[in-house]
Amino acid sequence: MKAYVVGNAALDETLAVDDFPRPGASIFGASLSRDLGGKGLNQAVAMARTGLPCVFVAAVGQDARGREIADRLAREPLTTRLTQLTGVATDASTILMAAAGENAVITTREAASALSPGQAVGGLAGSAPGDLLVLQGNLSAGTTGALLREARGRGMTTAMNPSPLQPYFAPLWPLVDMAFVNEGEAEALGGTGHLLEQGVQSVVLTLGAAGAALITAKGQTRVAAVPCTVRDTTGAGDCFMATALASAALRGVALDATALTHATRAAAHTVARPGTVAAFPTEAEFADILGKAEQRS
Ligand code: ATP
Repeated sequence: MKAYVVGNAALDETLAVDDFPRPGASIFGASLSRDLGGKGLNQAVAMARTGLPCVFVAAVGQDARGREIADRLAREPLTTRLTQLTGVATDASTILMAAAGENAVITTREAASALSPGQAVGGLAGSAPGDLLVLQGNLSAGTTGALLREARGRGMTTAMNPSPLQPYFAPLWPLVDMAFVNEGEAEALGGTGHLLEQGVQSVVLTLGAAGAALITAKGQTRVAAVPCTVRDTTGAGDCFMATALASAALRGVALDATALTHATRAAAHTVARPGTVAAFPTEAEFADILGKAEQRS
């Protein structure tokens, strides 16, 4: 079983600030990290480091950022299918980390939104029934819909993280098997029950420091977060989703409490360290996380 993650690839620049700037203000910041980022890339790298075979499909521009992303991804245990687009800038994120621990993220989506349905669907080459398609909210409406329809046609299982929230998600839920949402997204989408009514089989609600819940037609299972000192929460949700999906896939089961337990452990590693992908568990740490949590559950 293989996972195909289709989404955005970006470079993240994280700046520490005392507080978020008001309109018109000029403030000082300190450079915290420059790292691989983008929700699609984050999920693909975390998933690959668990040991689940993973293909990452994304668009970049023909520029220095695009080359840096390709070089850095070549060091990950991942099959990378990057479409190089002309006349388009590779995506980037600026992350402001305020002293109080909150962050604000500004992301460009020029390259991600320019990935055409044909280019994206071409990235699923080699997939087999039962393989996993993983999506987020950075692609265009046409490309996201085309991928979900193609995956259904190929007998793949689909997972969606509707972030950033887009109005075009509404008619797509019947094509989604597993949804990962935080509290704000769940509320904006009309509640987790509304997603189940539209055909989603499993909804995972992430609750930050309060952990996560798995919601299916059979009921709800809560899993506590792993207590840790918070350094930088960027990418925690992506690492959580990738780990939960990989944990279930590697054991050949549907999402379960063990998958969420594994995910909370991986996410705790991520929030306790600065950076995005650099803060994710390494392959050795993932082996430990998946093994140890399994023995306890
Ligand atoms: P982000 O957008 O920052 O990546 P998100 O909003 O998608 O995150 P969250 O619910 O904030 O998702 O966090 C995902 C998971 O990360 C949580 O379910 C939890 O396991 C872990 N996590 C987040 N914050 C903390 C924390 N303060 N302490 C321990 N674990 C945390």
